[in-house]
Amino acid sequence: MVDSENDAFLLDFGLNFSRWGEFFEEFLNPRTGRILHDLLKLNMVPRLNIYREDLFDGKFEDPVNYSFLFLSHAHADHTGMVGLIDEKIPLLMTGETLAVMNASVKTTNSNVLIQLDGKKRRKASEKDVENGIRPDLTVSGRSKDTEELERCISFPEKTELDDYRTVEMSTLWKDDLFVEPVYHSVIGAAGLVVKVDGFWLAYTGDFRTGPETPEEERYWLDTLGEKRLSLSLRTFQFFEKLKDKRPIVLIVEGTRLAREENVENTEKDVYENATKVFRKTKNLILVDFPVRHLERLFTFLKVCMENNRKLVLMPKDYAYLIEMERVEPLWKLSEEEKSHIRVYHPGKLTYINLEKEALIKAKSEGILIPPNEINYSPGEYTLVAGYWDFPHILDLDENVLNGAIYIHSTSEAYTEEQEIDARRFMNWLRYFNIKPFGLKERNGSVVFTKEFHASGHVSPRSLEAILNDLKPDYIVPVHTLNPNWFVERWKERVLLNDVIVL
Ligand SMILES: [Zn+2]
Repeated sequence: MVDSENDAFLLDFGLNFSRWGEFFEEFLNPRTGRILHDLLKLNMVPRLNIYREDLFDGKFEDPVNYSFLFLSHAHADHTGMVGLIDEKIPLLMTGETLAVMNASVKTTNSNVLIQLDGKKRRKASEKDVENGIRPDLTVSGRSKDTEELERCISFPEKTELDDYRTVEMSTLWKDDLFVEPVYHSVIGAAGLVVKVDGFWLAYTGDFRTGPETPEEERYWLDTLGEKRLSLSLRTFQFFEKLKDKRPIVLIVEGTRLAREENVENTEKDVYENATKVFRKTKNLILVDFPVRHLERLFTFLKVCMENNRKLVLMPKDYAYLIEMERVEPLWKLSEEEKSHIRVYHPGKLTYINLEKEALIKAKSEGILIPPNEINYSPGEYTLVAGYWDFPHILDLDENVLNGAIYIHSTSEAYTEEQEIDARRFMNWLRYFNIKPFGLKERNGSVVFTKEFHASGHVSPRSLEAILNDLKPDYIVPVHTLNPNWFVERWKERVLLNDVIVL
């Protein structure tokens, strides 16, 4: 929370997984209808006047007025608790983030985490607006002119995303404010740059860097194309813009400072390593990556195109693509790309909301395929199937699965539960004799070899260079287990207290 006299805004409202895991698990949750009560009692949410009235009718000693909640990106540790937030507090995010959140909510029965729903966040009606409820705002990435991004935002009007209206940013905050995209492992990540009491303050959200030299850029452009290059340069552009403002305060992430990592893979490495595997097999390939990380989908789509395969998506994953196209035409598939997409249809199952829509659309486009088609010529397909989708492989013939390849292109197991999941997952692979890439078994535990994964976070080396270049007056580290890394380098310019008064 950042405040200026009586006005304040919030930066992200996510779920702290390790804290959550101390008290809850899949089947042990806060009580329905008493969610907020339970979370407050466990000190898992702040005691601020920011909650939905139907969840909490008391008042805290908190005299400020909340102007908006900025959501930097659609990872659950940044947005997972947003369903608790009072609808009178507008959300501010990029159109891409809105699309990802929409698709997530509409394709899951979110029974575990508190996603946007529970009670779904309602879009502000005209009457609401008359009554002083401000609509949620999204920054449209569609604006070709980046300068325009500073002044213009758009928001979904009525009930659909199709219709956008541009409004002045000034409806949100009393002073200058802009949202600028950064490069991260989910599409739509952005940072916030805002003037508070006459001084610039910036929040990076989570970010990583793209190619750092002109040679690397060239190579990126040649292998992955223009769209992917421009995506990878978002962080660079964010900090270039910040340099003009020279922020007094920089709130910055430091996720990778505490992790011991020897690999520094980029998305380009993922592409190259995947290509090597694809070239060596004529069998079915299964690949696991989070579709929210749209960039990864484009990597595997490209590898498929170059190796005469079709990329087969689960209906829920196709829903992401549809939702993204609706909001951000930049991510619309080309005809050539589209001709390499298929949507898997395992037959009679129940589908939720947007999944149903995705199935209908795929059918009308003639890209819906039954398991039999994969059984008939497995070497022509790459099926996107993660841990939770794996029961779908039971539709495929044993001899198709025998010798198939599985590529693990997502993060490793961090928690104890995830390790148990990983061991369980290995049983599936062993049972059908599917050959894993990106993870293997060693002495009964699962080792992640990471050739098909690239960190979504900036490396210590790049972060140091960025901060030395930007020279903010004050640095506020967040999202890190190692704040001392900052203190060692920038001494008293690093502010670590819970409450910081400037
Ligand atoms: Zn993140």
